[in-house]
Amino acid sequence: MEIKGKIHSVETCGTVDGPGIRYVIFFKGCPLRCVYCHNPDTWSGGESKTVSVSELFSDIKNYQDFMRFSGGGVTVTGGEPLVQSDFIYELFKLCRQNNIHTVVDTSGNIFNESVKKVFEYTDLVLLDIKAFSDDIFKRVTGKSIENTLLFAKWLDENNIDTWVRFVFVPTVNDDFDDIEKMADYVKGLKNVSRVEVLPFHKMGEYKWEELNLDYELKDVLPPKKEDIERVKKIFSDRGLNVV
Ligand code: SF4
Repeated sequence: MEIKGKIHSVETCGTVDGPGIRYVIFFKGCPLRCVYCHNPDTWSGGESKTVSVSELFSDIKNYQDFMRFSGGGVTVTGGEPLVQSDFIYELFKLCRQNNIHTVVDTSGNIFNESVKKVFEYTDLVLLDIKAFSDDIFKRVTGKSIENTLLFAKWLDENNIDTWVRFVFVPTVNDDFDDIEKMADYVKGLKNVSRVEVLPFHKMGEYKWEELNLDYELKDVLPPKKEDIERVKKIFSDRGLNVV
């Protein structure tokens, strides 16, 4: 029987989750509970759709020319897409057979043998590192950073192209000493070709309200321009390619 996946939604012309124009699939489920999450509606319950790999891939094929022309492809995100690693493995195998570029956007929190297999057919990883000290990481996500670091090390050992993403949130993970330590760590990874510093925004706040969840960042403002530049400089001073 064909494997089924549980997805929240798809975006057919995504431009922020990897190179080019991308078919972005938002998977349901996530083991973390980031205080700034823009997609709490992917965690559990709420809107969802069950699809087979072949159903999803036949829709992807409709956009293949756009993707190829723009240097884009397929991105899996969420939620945490690697909650459904067996499904993604089958989907990405089909993508590879059809020369479609593949990206996984992940927190690296789920790391097991089934997850490792997905990278046989993955071209690029967007690895979200949400803080560096375990205390701050727990404050942001509710869980330890341990798996994310094991995952990052494994990606490096297997030379899998990775962009590190850091969402910079005032009052939450804006400890510059911690960011310096993270940058030192990232500099030691040979597979990281880009670092993206993403300023916190509140575009997902309304979803927390709709879900009757307590959004603790109500009074937190987006970071100041000079602080964003300071964070970028911390990474670029170490020779990393920062955008
Ligand atoms: S890992 Fe992503 S989807 Fe999961 S809670 Fe954090 S920001 Fe939200």
